[in-house]
Amino acid sequence: MNDTDTTDLNGTEQEETPSLEAELARAKSLSVESLADAIESIGFECTRCGACCTAHHEGDDEQKSEYNDEPDSVNAAGSDTSRDDNLKTDNSVSTVDSGHVDHSSQIADQTQTVDNEGQKEHHDMTTQSASTEPHTATVFPDEIRELQTATDDIGDDPVATGDGDGQASTEWRDVARPMPYGLDDENETGTTFEWALQTNACGDCVFYDETDGIGSCQAHDDRPLICATYPFSVALGGTSQPMGEAVDKAGMVRAHECEGLGRDISREAAEELAATLRTRAIRELNEAISLRDAYEPTGDTDGIVVHDSEGAKRPDGTAIDN
Ligand code: SF4
Ligand code: SF4
Repeated sequence: MNDTDTTDLNGTEQEETPSLEAELARAKSLSVESLADAIESIGFECTRCGACCTAHHEGDDEQKSEYNDEPDSVNAAGSDTSRDDNLKTDNSVSTVDSGHVDHSSQIADQTQTVDNEGQKEHHDMTTQSASTEPHTATVFPDEIRELQTATDDIGDDPVATGDGDGQASTEWRDVARPMPYGLDDENETGTTFEWALQTNACGDCVFYDETDGIGSCQAHDDRPLICATYPFSVALGGTSQPMGEAVDKAGMVRAHECEGLGRDISREAAEELAATLRTRAIRELNEAISLRDAYEPTGDTDGIVVHDSEGAKRPDGTAIDN
């Protein structure tokens, strides 16, 4: 029995969920060199197919079996799933099940007051669906503000709806929307955790642009950490896991659906990606701890309540005072 195991009243051994603090300590101890080794061994080069920035359509999953290995292929989500279709993290707090950000479910457990089954299905980057599901990627409050500022600096502002009154013309809700899990079908009421990148009418990320089948991010330099490190994650509880089960792994690194997997990557690029991946893991765990600690039920509040690391907010990002 290891030190995370415990025994219930029936004498059955059960694994104890590591605390967020324990996982944060593990994240801080991650070696960039080791992560880079893992990324190098898996291999990656982004083909700019756009699959990780756009809505998930019925039939996308079928495309996975039609993998086209041509470098210029735009066959989204076409990574080689045959390598290992059943990889899961060994860590009990990281349930990589159908592609979800899992730290919120742990937060819900730790607040012990949240009955929000939808939080167990926090998807990242894209979601599963029988038809079309909007792109859903976690974005943290600071990242939202950075995207607001960055978007204001773009000459032909792609997303702003503000009135140009001297304040930031890009509003919070131009950039982010409440994470949909825990909301009603119309996304009008409910309690949820964290924010997702805002989507357009097609369900694609508002920052996504495509020309002649080549995708681009209009906020590339300020894109959230989850975007900057896709398709990789680390096998730590409380960190976010992109869509679906991992399709490859090496050491602590997990790789998710992406047609760029398996391609050569330079050592320099692997180290840069590894450093960002480590930063992301630490950031996600710090956010999860702050969210847990800041969580307080808001009582009778009309509409939507979003709990994030700074407290409870309305969909426009303004704070709800208890
Ligand atoms: S990271 Fe992968 S899924 Fe995303 S655009 Fe690049 S190749 Fe496509
Ligand atoms: S912010 Fe950029 S990289 Fe991230 S999902 Fe949107 S378009 Fe893609």
